[in-house]
Amino acid sequence: MSELNDEERMMLEQIGRFAKLELEPYAPSLDEGEETATRHLKSMSALGLMGLNISWDHGGIGLSGIALYEAVELIAGACGSTASMLTAHFLSTDSVEIGGSEEQRERILPLAASGDMLGAFALTEPHAGSNPVDMGTTAVKTERGYHISGTKCFISNAAYADFIIVYAKTAPELGARGISAFLIEPKEVSGIEFGLPERTMGLRGGHVFTVTLDCVVPLSSLMGTEGSGFRTALSVLDNGRIEVAAQATGVAAAALEAAIAYSKERKVGGHPVSDFQGIQWMLADCAVDLSAARALGKSAAGKRGTGKRYSTEAAMAKLFATEAAGRIADKALQIHGGNGYTRDYPLERYVRDLRILRIYEGSSEIQRGLIARSLLRDQ
Ligand SMILES: Cc1cc2nc3c(=O)[nH]c(=O)nc-3n(C[C@H](O)[C@H](O)[C@H](O)COP(=O)(O)OP(=O)(O)OC[C@H]3O[C@@H](n4cnc5c(N)ncnc54)[C@H](O)[C@@H]3O)c2cc1C
Repeated sequence: MSELNDEERMMLEQIGRFAKLELEPYAPSLDEGEETATRHLKSMSALGLMGLNISWDHGGIGLSGIALYEAVELIAGACGSTASMLTAHFLSTDSVEIGGSEEQRERILPLAASGDMLGAFALTEPHAGSNPVDMGTTAVKTERGYHISGTKCFISNAAYADFIIVYAKTAPELGARGISAFLIEPKEVSGIEFGLPERTMGLRGGHVFTVTLDCVVPLSSLMGTEGSGFRTALSVLDNGRIEVAAQATGVAAAALEAAIAYSKERKVGGHPVSDFQGIQWMLADCAVDLSAARALGKSAAGKRGTGKRYSTEAAMAKLFATEAAGRIADKALQIHGGNGYTRDYPLERYVRDLRILRIYEGSSEIQRGLIARSLLRDQ
């Protein structure tokens, strides 16, 4: 596993301070729906956070895979909603970096890195989530450009986004090989409508929207070649799944830290509850789960940018980290007793924020399927 360099270590220290001082205090009000994570866009942009994953050549910070993992952890540990907004932006910029034309990369990525443009990634549809090949959105080439029509749902950032990566079928008869990716700037075209933010269980400051498209976009909106979109989406999701693992371990680490502190303060029968073996065993199990999840996550993250394939490692990292984080937050809440169930403590928010991580960017069932297929193929 590659080590972090001095610059990355300094950057992570800065991010850690920023997350504690600027993000964490607002996490409860974002959760209560009083504000959205976009309130942090300006300060995050000033620190370069919107371009952490974007290569230096295209105006970003270009962190290594492991440093990026640690950065996402720090942000998620302070505010899950903000981490979700940021990682959705990463999905969009990774799409451009991986599948875009040089013109698209040079025009969009520096603006996305500086935070002047916020991105969204639109793959899911009402009848196509776990299996995107079922998508019904089409893109038909006309003299005026591509006519895109269809509906995407649960799209993070969509209504606030300056560009949306929309996946649509240019050749429906070809299945996955008929899917293409388009870089669409919604403020520049008519015929794109957004629903109200979904009323979600957690990550309530990181809004998700239904997007209805009936629009004509310039031919230059196509990313790469027709039919290359699905390949792009899969590569983007390999990175995205590692970032979801980092979100999971970030929130889980915050939950464990809170549980350790609480267990030492809370007295029952004259003893801090940390004296009880039942509590100690819960803490120990949480620590083992967290270390194992981080090890898998960082092992997958270390392969990013090496040219090696890491789809299976990314799937393992996401599966284990998101399930382990659920166990950790549940135990941490238990250690808080009744207080853990109230909104005066962050535990119930951690539990709610973590729950979606087992579903989005490929559910746990889909990750298990991917891992099993690679075993059956390779052995
Ligand atoms: C807060 C939030 C943010 C999101 N952000 C985005 C975003 O920015 N962009 C985007 O494109 N999408 C986004 N999504 C959508 C998300 O990725 C999908 O909800 C997810 O992929 C699951 O799809 P689905 O909801 O259609 O579930 P379904 O596909 O209908 O699955 C239903 C159940 O069946 C199981 N299942 C499906 N197939 C199999 C199988 N082969 N074997 C075993 N079990 C299976 C699933 O695991 C699940 O338990 C977001 C969703 C939420 C809630």
